[in-house]
Order: sequence, then C-alpha cells, then structure tokens
Amino acid sequence: MKKVAMFDTKPYDKIWFDRLNDDRYEIHYFEGKLTTDTVSLTKGYDVVCAFVNDDIDKEVVEQMCENGVKLLAMRCAGYSNVDIKAASGKLKIARVPAYSPYAVAEFAMGLLLTLNRKLHKAYNRTREYNFNINGLTGMDLYGKTVGVIGTGKIGQVFVNICRGFGMRVLAYDIFPNNSLGYEYVDLDTLFRDSDVISLHCPLTEQTNHIIDEDAISKMKEHCYIINTSRGGLIDSRALLDALRERRIGGAGLDVYEEEAEFFFEDHSEKGITDATLALLSAMPNVIITSHQAFLTEEALSNIAKVTFENMDAFFAGSSLVNEVQYTYNG
Ligand code: NAD
Repeated sequence: MKKVAMFDTKPYDKIWFDRLNDDRYEIHYFEGKLTTDTVSLTKGYDVVCAFVNDDIDKEVVEQMCENGVKLLAMRCAGYSNVDIKAASGKLKIARVPAYSPYAVAEFAMGLLLTLNRKLHKAYNRTREYNFNINGLTGMDLYGKTVGVIGTGKIGQVFVNICRGFGMRVLAYDIFPNNSLGYEYVDLDTLFRDSDVISLHCPLTEQTNHIIDEDAISKMKEHCYIINTSRGGLIDSRALLDALRERRIGGAGLDVYEEEAEFFFEDHSEKGITDATLALLSAMPNVIITSHQAFLTEEALSNIAKVTFENMDAFFAGSSLVNEVQYTYNG
C-alpha cells in the first residue's frame, strides 16, 4: 500500500480523506506544517500531501526527493508556496485546480455584504441588547461598479453573483476571455471607476502587491477591497496607511501576506507579533477571516476526491491532468 504523509492536517481534512480513501492508501496525518524543520518526517513516504501555508522551498523539495517521495499532492489550487523550479524534473507535483469556485465566490460576496452593511457591528451590538443603528449606514450595491481582477473559475462565479445584485462589472485579466462578454478595462480604469474591487487572480511575480500605494491612490475614497485569493496581492502596510487616512472605504480579507505564521491556529492566548495584522484586525472597516473561503462540505469532499484521483493517476502511470509544471519564461 502506498504511504501518504499529510501535513497541516485539520479535523475537517481527516474526515473527508478517511471517508473517501477506501483503504487504498496508508495515510499518516501530521498536524504540523511541512517546513525545513519537519521535512525529515517524509522519509519512507511515497506521497506528501500539503496545503497553502506549508513552506515548500528548494531545501524542502530536495530533502523530499532524497527521502524517496515521488509525488507532492497539493490539496489546494494555488501553489505559490512551492518552489516548482526546484522540483522540475525531480518531483512530480499535482494540485486540485477547482474544488468549488462557488465556495470562494460566495464567501467574497459575504465579506462585501458584511463590510458594506456593517453586519459585524450589528451582530455585536444586538448581543449586548444595543439596538441602536447609528453608524451602520451602507450603500446599495445595485447600480454600483465592481472591478474584478482575474476572470478565471472563481472570478466568473463572482461576476455572476454581482450581476445578480444589479452591479456593473469591470474586469481585468492578463488573458482576457472575450467569449464571456465582460467589459475588460486596463487596471488604472478599474482602480479609478470601481466602488468595490475583488481579487481573483493567482499570486505570481506579476501580481505581487498588485494593490499597492500607487494603485490605492487611484481608487475612490469609499472603495471596498475584497481579497479571497492570496495575501501577497496586497501591500498590507500600504492598505493599513490608506485605511487609517480614510483614503479607501474598507477591506474584506480572507488572506494576508504573512498569514502562514498565524492563520488556521488559535493565538487568542498568546496574541500576535505582527503589528500590521493586529492594527488591521482592530479597524472597524476591516474584516479579516482566516483563509476559510474554501471551507464548505462540497469543497472539502472535492479536494479529497481529486487528490485521490491525482494519486491514482500517478501510480497507474496515466496522464497526470492536474500536474503543476515549471515553465521557463526568461
Ligand atoms: P483560475 O486559474 O481559474 O483563474 C485565475 C485567473 O487569473 C485566470 O483567468 C488568469 O488568466 C488570471 N491571471 C493570471 N495572472 C494574472 C495577472 N497578472 N493579472 C490579472 N489576472 C491574472 O483560478 P481560480 O480557481 O479562479 O482561483 C483564483 C485564486 O483564488 C487562486 O489563485 C487562489 O490563490 C485563490 N483561492 C483562494 C481560496 C481561499 O480559500 N481563500 C480557495 C481557492 C482559491
């Protein structure tokens, strides 16, 4: 039986992987993250199954290869935490490209609705029998303009949701899909004309800090920024400064650029050392969630199903349709 080492395992992962395994694989669930400190644990395993905040740098890749690992099965869509160049030709990598675009897109709209209609404040008030609604004024989303950056699977579902609200959609994508009939514009126009901006592109060298001081300076003062993609898309320091100076309306963040140290864990007793995250969390017009946009029953089931399919295909020697490959681009 092939042996799988799963890192950063949470109870909800185990439920779905145990349910769909059918005793095909011997899975060892490690709670800790895969890092240079833990990579020695991969010795003797055929597959390593990792997630978004495992730190799979060159050293980890090389050590896994030395330890005899044959496949890195990412149980997520993004792979910006993997040194795919280092793995090229040495270690096969598979991912789960789509497990529920609805889960993430619906969550993005949830963040927007909460932020705009101040549901987080209302919830806290009524729990203390404070039924005063002063300060809870939002705006109609109907008729407003939403700028969507990245019109892939999640971006498209989000566009449909926004259209259901009667919003005008502006789109930006490095590869515009003209069959979608979207109003594609350049980034400057999107920044300038949007009341809401939602990020749905991957984190790459090109998109790193796509929302920076300069981008924010072009936005409307009441603009809401929603990020359910990857934290590195936003320069958090620039975002914090803009929020403090009231140069934008607010932010709904399911991801944060330095999230790996904190997200998915309970830090309520010891607190956090990241001053930017602490200040952002304390702002009334910021909602931070802990990378949970994917967290639906359907998504978890699909993640386990496709991860098993990837492993089955790899060991059967069939084509690995969800392979992640390094492409040299100068
Ligand atoms: P996708 O590959 O279907 O779509 C990504 C889109 O971004 C593509 O259309 C691509 O052309 C575009 N893009 C690439 N580079 C770009 C650039 N430089 N500028 C503008 N657009 C660019 O991916 P998806 O399934 O829609 O997922 C989008 C992102 O959502 C993922 O990369 C991942 O980081 C994130 N995600 C987050 C969660 C969560 O729980 N918060 C869950 C799943 C995915």
